[in-house]
Amino acid sequence: MNPSTEQSSPQSLGEKPSDGGQLSKSSLRREIRARKKQFTPDGLIALSQPILKRLAAHPRYRQATTVLLYHSLPDEVYTHDFVAQAVAEGKTVLLPVVVSDTEMEIRRYTGPDDLSISSFGILEPSGEPFTDFAQIEFALVPGMSFDSHRNRLGRGKGYYDRFLPNIPQAYKLGICFDFQKLDEIPADKYDKKVDEVL
Ligand code: ADP
Ligand code: MG
Repeated sequence: MNPSTEQSSPQSLGEKPSDGGQLSKSSLRREIRARKKQFTPDGLIALSQPILKRLAAHPRYRQATTVLLYHSLPDEVYTHDFVAQAVAEGKTVLLPVVVSDTEMEIRRYTGPDDLSISSFGILEPSGEPFTDFAQIEFALVPGMSFDSHRNRLGRGKGYYDRFLPNIPQAYKLGICFDFQKLDEIPADKYDKKVDEVL
């Protein structure tokens, strides 16, 4: 089976939508996790390369000097080298850091010395919070999924739903693997759309 072409649909979970047509966010997250399992970590890094090429070429990214990126977890579009490249190009690079069950904050990243292992076992910047939100011109927004209406499905904690209202001026570009994209994601009153999905 070729994992890049054999994609099961959400309906294959055999669940009946309970709300007149929309699958619940949790069942969609389960579906996306199942799709991810068809790839090895190296396979996902390889799949990341063409996506990062499009990001590097994106005019809104290229024009921006202060950018919010993210330091990828193993199941996300791989950004470690991209983050380093952005610093090397002279951009002011900010990364999100989870600080509680509901909040994330933003910290400046200037190089590997800024990173330390968090309590979650992931590498994250250890510096002071960055709060000059008005400076942020561009935000790369990771997601479990995005749909054709630019709705986002996150991991279920609402971190970006809470944070994105701080940066209304920033161009918000959603990023995920193509196999993560869905036709419809249910959106509630807190859910924030992105401006574009890469
Ligand atoms: P995600 O965006 O990570 O996929 P959800 O959209 O399911 O997660 O949101 C997770 C929880 O956080 C939901 O209960 C949602 O109502 C809540 N939430 C999101 N944004 C806010 C907010 N700005 N204020 C209060 N609760 C929020
Ligand atoms: Mg949400």
